[in-house]
Amino acid sequence: MKPQNILNADLHCHSVVSDGTLTPEALAERAKNNGVELWALTDHDEIGGQHRAAAAAKAQGMAYLTGTEISVTFAGETVHIVGLGFDPDDAALKQGLHNTRNGREQRAMEMSDSLAKVGIHGAFEGALKFVGNPELISRTHFARFLVESGVCKETNEVFRKYLTEGKPGYVPHRWATLKDAVTWITQAQGIAVIAHPGRYNFSANEEYALFTEFKAHGGRGVEVVTGSHTKQEFVKYAETAKEFGLAASRGSDFHSPDESHTDLGALPFLPGDLTPVWELLADRIQA
Ligand code: AMP
Ligand code: MN
Ligand code: MN
Ligand code: MN
Repeated sequence: MKPQNILNADLHCHSVVSDGTLTPEALAERAKNNGVELWALTDHDEIGGQHRAAAAAKAQGMAYLTGTEISVTFAGETVHIVGLGFDPDDAALKQGLHNTRNGREQRAMEMSDSLAKVGIHGAFEGALKFVGNPELISRTHFARFLVESGVCKETNEVFRKYLTEGKPGYVPHRWATLKDAVTWITQAQGIAVIAHPGRYNFSANEEYALFTEFKAHGGRGVEVVTGSHTKQEFVKYAETAKEFGLAASRGSDFHSPDESHTDLGALPFLPGDLTPVWELLADRIQA
């Protein structure tokens, strides 16, 4: 039997149910074609695509874990917590995610007003054309509108110039608390995982506090191999996983064939000395 770490698991990606451009069915097919052996769809703040994704994985003959990526505010920054292997019909998780999505429309209108002040008009309506789920209007949809209207060449440029802190289209937002997100996932029999830790602008002390509090609330995993980590970050967060006794996860964070630089399943394997998060979730995997 091959070691558990040598598994093409991709446990992080997005569909039209949040800010991806492919349907759950198209993602399942793409994952299968790319050699993915264990898959999870992790839409932002939403589990409405889970039954479709599980059925699509089954039709492809691919193992599946339920997934989501919850937006959290910690130490004044947005942190993402991935949940894996939870019961997709859990009422408290569904309600918590519904509440987390609630402020998005208001934020989007404020973003649009703020873009209008720098001469970009109709951004709310423009972004809406790209939205697949009316409860989930995201910065990514604004980015696609600004590319379509010729303001920027690609979505990365939009984020750099307009949609990040200090830029004209940025509107701060308060998401769920770390404790709530971890608790919703855990009480629904899932495992909470810190997503792409290399992407936050924390000091070493703040990062230590994030991992410490995450563990104290019952969090059990961290993404070590993700599409947005460098090789140095694979090494750094492998060490962090061991230091905090966390299991390791692996996921591309794929959003779109036109935008994502890491395709589904196209990642190095997890380092051999880590416990893969799917080992802890063996009885939650839908074969
Ligand atoms: P939101 O949840 O609406 O604040 O949007 C967050 C999403 O924006 C993330 O999940 C990414 O898909 C996308 N995003 C954030 N920063 C960037 C960036 N620098 N370049 C491209 N996409 C980004
Ligand atoms: Mn996203
Ligand atoms: Mn994320
Ligand atoms: Mn993501």
